[in-house]
Amino acid sequence: MFPTKAALIAGAVFLLVNVSRADTIYFKNGMYMVVRKTEEKGAQIEYWVGSTKYSVGKNLVLRIQAGNGPAVTTRSAPTNGALPTDLTHRDAPTSSVTQHEKLQLPLLKGPKQDDAYWTGLRNRIMVGDGIDDMRLAEIEIQHDAKATGDAYYLAGVMEMQRGNSERASGYFEHAIRARPDEVQFLEWRGIALAAQGRYADATSDLERAIQLRPDSADLLRLLGLARYDADRTGEAVSAWKHALEISPDAYTERLLHKAERELAVEERSRRKESRHFTLHYQGDRTSSELQQQLLATMEDQYQDLARQFSYQPTENIIVILYTQREFVDITEAPSWAGALNDGKLRIPIGGVTGMNPELARVLKHELTHSFLQSLAAGHCPAWLNEGLAQMMEPRSSSMFAQRLAPLFQARKEIPFPMLEHSFTGFSDLQAQVAYAESLSAVEYFRDRYGMGEMLRMLQNIGAGTRTEEALERSTGQDYSAFERRVGEYLAKTASQ
Ligand SMILES: [Zn+2]
Repeated sequence: MFPTKAALIAGAVFLLVNVSRADTIYFKNGMYMVVRKTEEKGAQIEYWVGSTKYSVGKNLVLRIQAGNGPAVTTRSAPTNGALPTDLTHRDAPTSSVTQHEKLQLPLLKGPKQDDAYWTGLRNRIMVGDGIDDMRLAEIEIQHDAKATGDAYYLAGVMEMQRGNSERASGYFEHAIRARPDEVQFLEWRGIALAAQGRYADATSDLERAIQLRPDSADLLRLLGLARYDADRTGEAVSAWKHALEISPDAYTERLLHKAERELAVEERSRRKESRHFTLHYQGDRTSSELQQQLLATMEDQYQDLARQFSYQPTENIIVILYTQREFVDITEAPSWAGALNDGKLRIPIGGVTGMNPELARVLKHELTHSFLQSLAAGHCPAWLNEGLAQMMEPRSSSMFAQRLAPLFQARKEIPFPMLEHSFTGFSDLQAQVAYAESLSAVEYFRDRYGMGEMLRMLQNIGAGTRTEEALERSTGQDYSAFERRVGEYLAKTASQ
């Protein structure tokens, strides 16, 4: 996401507010965070935001209470000298905060691995902690389609559970070859492919699965998600409508409603393709000159990012231009968001008649998210994602180091574990601090360890390694050591 105004930083007591959740974690630095649930595990507190699990060191936590935090949800007054000089920002709504991550196909349950049959199969294909490809191959050459299919299916499910969708889809491929009409195998491969950003391929697997089981509402829901991500909004709408006819549910209803609003804009829009992009624009508002400029700018930016990341996303990147009003209606974005990337780049462009530096920065920022989405297979934590996107704009932390350094010195920064998930629930001020910390962290990392190490860390995260563990592997530092170093880096920048 691209913050509209991200320049100002303050030392405030931060309230991270999100409603309709059940536990509140109070941190020693004065912040609190409302989460779905918490659990103690050794020296860590594990907590859930939506269906995603995070953890934070107990040493940072003051106490945990049930409920949605203190009754008063207004922002506290800033408490130290580094006051914000600009308080004109609107507050982000503190209720009904929506998540704007890419629509992700849910993970299915998979076989009952404690059942004797599956346990036996599991023992046959595992050596130590890992799946042994030799053992799988031995099962395959015995030409028993059931055993082969199940063994590869189980291997694929286990890899998915470890977050390694690329290996998983390879295993599902073998399973499907053994038994092409097994709906579950197709369904799982569809999910694995979608996790890698290969939505068109995921769609065709799910379409085949639907042919085999035409009245499954669950399959139709998945198919809708895959089609939606593959930029086939109209067909996504029809899959979701069909699913709702079979079995109504509120979540699909909401998706359908959003997609229908998008479709209304899409129907007024035209498409233009370039080598790596599909641009949706409204002809009466976007001159052909501006279309050309947009595509040319983004192709240049694409080349630059491909070089810096040594990587190219597999599919065309979808860019949708909106008026300001359509953007707010469709994305329900918080007030501080000036553009966003939820798998598609959604850019409000009302009134712009030609390319300008600010628009170019917005595009480069959002485009970076597209690269990271596929590079880290959807697992990129927010601080790394937003830090790199800002670095590529390019933006530098030097403009706010003066104000951010004292915050780190007072140990009142937002702890990095809390910056792993979306900033969407943050207020303006919190979001500004979150973006600034993210950029500082990424800058420090690049200066100290280089871009190559950054890529290795991203790949490790993409292969299912937890972020803090990947960070430790690359830098030898856990989050708390890393935070101290980032603070020192900012203090040094501020004194220059
Ligand atoms: Zn962003």
